Formats: sequence, C-alpha cells, structure tokens
Amino acid sequence: MKYISTRGGMAALTFSDILLEGLAPDGGLAVPESLPQVSEQTLESWRGLPYADLAFEVLSLFATDIPADDLRRLTRAAYTQQIFNSEDIVPLRPLNGGLSLLGLSEGPTLAFKDMAMQFLGQVFEYVLAKRGTTLNIVGATSGDTGSAAEYALRGKQGVAVFMLSPQGRMSAFQRAQMYSLQDENIHNIAVRGVFDEAQDIVKALAGDLAFKSKYRLGAVNSINWARIAAQVVYYFHGWLRATSKPGQQVSFAVPSGNFGNILSGHIARSMGLPIRRLVLATNENNVLEEFFRSGVYRPRPAEQTYATSSPSMDISRASNFERFVFDLVGRDAGRVKELWAAVARDGSFDLSDLKPEFESRYGFVSGASSHDDRLATIRSVYEETGVLIDPHTADGVKVAREFVESGVPMLVLETALPAKFSETIEEALGRPATPPGNLADLESLPQRVQTMDCDQASVRRYIEANAKV
Ligand SMILES: *Cc1c(COP(=O)(O)O)cnc(C)c1O
Repeated sequence: MKYISTRGGMAALTFSDILLEGLAPDGGLAVPESLPQVSEQTLESWRGLPYADLAFEVLSLFATDIPADDLRRLTRAAYTQQIFNSEDIVPLRPLNGGLSLLGLSEGPTLAFKDMAMQFLGQVFEYVLAKRGTTLNIVGATSGDTGSAAEYALRGKQGVAVFMLSPQGRMSAFQRAQMYSLQDENIHNIAVRGVFDEAQDIVKALAGDLAFKSKYRLGAVNSINWARIAAQVVYYFHGWLRATSKPGQQVSFAVPSGNFGNILSGHIARSMGLPIRRLVLATNENNVLEEFFRSGVYRPRPAEQTYATSSPSMDISRASNFERFVFDLVGRDAGRVKELWAAVARDGSFDLSDLKPEFESRYGFVSGASSHDDRLATIRSVYEETGVLIDPHTADGVKVAREFVESGVPMLVLETALPAKFSETIEEALGRPATPPGNLADLESLPQRVQTMDCDQASVRRYIEANAKV
C-alpha cells in the first residue's frame, strides 16, 4: 500500500513514511493510492475477534510495510482492558427509538481521541526506534487532543511532547488530566494567552525550518493518516456487534468538527462495510452541515466561530474534509487543487452539481444542533433510558433521531463522557456528572506545568533546553 497526495504533488510513500509527516509537500493530504476491499467472507471471519485483533486485521491493510507480528504486538499493546476501562474496549449500549451508543470514550482521557492516539503512541515509538531517530512533538490544545496525545506518548522512548495550553482557560478536570502527568518526556506549558495565540507560536516554530529540523519537531494533529486508519477499526467493530448476518445495513451518526471521525466512516464504507447512512452532526458551527445541504463549502474565520457547549466541535475549517472531496471529484488531484485555490481566492467552492451523489452514492446526510437542542436531548435520553450522555454525543443523538429508519440500527458515536463537560450536564439536569471511580481524586493530584508568557522566544528557549536529542 502506497500513499499519494490529494493535490498530486508527492511521490508515493509507505505508511511509516507518512506517519511522521504533517501536510504533503504540495499542501495536500496523504491518502491511499487505492482503498483495500474487505469481502463479505472476510468480514464474517472477523466476528468475535477481540478489539485489538480486529484492529490488527484492519490496520494490516493500511500499514503493509510493518511486519505482521510487530503490528499485532502494537495493536495488542494499544487496546487493553487496562487502558480502556472496558472489557470490550468499545462497548455498544442500546438507547431507545432504534438508537444505540458506540462507546468510544472509555480511554484515559474520556474522549474518542484516545481510540486513535493510543495506537499512534505505539506505532510512533516503534517507527522511531526502527529508524534510530527521535521526535519532539509540539502542539497547542484547548482540551481533548493535547491530553489524548500526552496519555498516548507518556513514557515512550525517543519522543517528547511539548503541549501549550492557554492558562486558566480549560476546565479544572481538563487541567488536572494533563498537568498531573509526571513523566519526564511530557512538558505542559501554560501560556498567558488564549488558544489562538498558543497555536500561532506552534505554527511559527514549525515554520522556522532550521529550528524544526535541528530539534526534529513533529505534530500529532488530526490530519495524521494513522489516526484516520485507526478510527476505521471501530466502524467495523460497531457493525460486527450490531449485526448477526452478512450484508445487514447499519447507519452511524457522528458528532463532527474536523471531519476526522466521519472520514473514517467513509473509508470503512468505501472498503465494503455495509453502512447505509453516515449522519453528520454539527453544533452551531455548521459549515459541514451547510455543505451537505447545499453543496457549497464556505469555511469561516475564527471570529465567526462560536464558542458553544460542545466545544470540541467548534471548528469552521475542517482539515480532513479535503480527503472526502478528493473521492467526491473522482480522485482528480488537479480538481482538488483548483477547489482549494478557490477557497483561498473567493472564500468558498460550489459542488452543488454533485449534490445528488452525497447521499445516493456516499450515504451522507447531515443536520445541526443548538445549545437548547443539546440540553433537551441530554434530558430526554436520561429520562427515557437512564443513560447520561455528553453534549457532543447529544448533538449526534439529536440529528440521528431525524434520520433513523425502521430495521436499520443507528449507532451514535459517543465521543466523550459526560464528566468531562459536567457544567453543561448540570445545566441540563440540575446536578453534575461524576467521573469514573478511578479518576475521582484526579483534581487533588500534584500538578506539573511550566507557566510562561505567551511569546515565541520563551517557548523556544524551553524546547531548546528540554528537547529529546
Ligand atoms: C474531536 C472531537 C469531536 C470532533 O471530531 P472530528 O474528528 O474533529 O470531526 C467531537 N466530539 C469530541 C468530544 C471531540 O473531542
């Protein structure tokens, strides 16, 4: 399996080659040259596999340059009952009205980013050791991604993490989650500024090519193909758990922001998994919902991005969307290049001529949810089923209900646990959500964090002094 760029300007590379890179050199994203197909017979042979072994089967189709025994060892190290607070790793729980919850948030940071990041931590360490090199991950986070990266890379050989966070802008739980890590290769840097300023520092450092190569800076952002591939696994797992015979159709509803999670569903469907619909749910930041409704893609600048009560979906420029558009335009890299040039020039592009195919050919439908919808959904699910869902998952449930069909199981992806967003649970139900038992005293643990001014020079000095060499 070789990987090419959605914009056509990259020599074909292996899975391990693209693992440590960000954007392709032409500004595009790495995608498989062609997608592997999974036959009905193969799919049936995977019934009953433990999650780690299913992950091996699916990932071996993408990571063809990693020997099978090694890859199996990596998936078995990533997906353990000890790391994921669940024997099933990804439990499937019935709700009502034809809906079920696919539990992607049993990992250490209580959000679905752990699903891909735990594999990424294993495969990073493996590839770095093989190539005899080291990597310094530099990132900025406002919550979920940074903590998932830290938990996946803590204590790993050959890699250090420098994670910038805006001082005083995360919830007490989120702060405790990150700052309580005592591993020497994890560096929490709280900067006196807001997230966008922290992000600008990271961009400036990565843009300084001499600094970047001297300190071997890397990233673990959501465009990383290994993350997309690892997320494909749980669509297969969900289908296998929700069906009992070949060819049965299942729909998935996906709370979406950067289009990473649902892109993995699109890949699974393109590999032959019998997925009927991919239901894309947004919050008030509905750029993607607008595209699937109208065919016009018009990303918005930061000042038009609302701060909502499902904050991990407050995204108006979906970085993975280009990979779907590549398929939509018949894998025509020249066309993709033109479309993104149009976004840069005019602020949008119009694919409304292809709109009839969004659902008929690709299974995509979409909807949006508001703060009031979110509260009402958390309340109604709790009252009707006794299950407490988080605000992001509530956006998924709200939109899923609009598209549920009799005889077709609708699996809503649970992208976070309610304890992570307890303020909104309290607003909906009048009482907070409690964290799982093993995290009850998280906020009282000692914290390890460097606080500094929000300027590039301070962060640069800190990395120079602490980078893995
Ligand atoms: C990241 C995240 C999302 C959005 O996922 P994308 O892959 O960016 O579409 C939704 N919910 C939660 C809780 C998240 O952390």
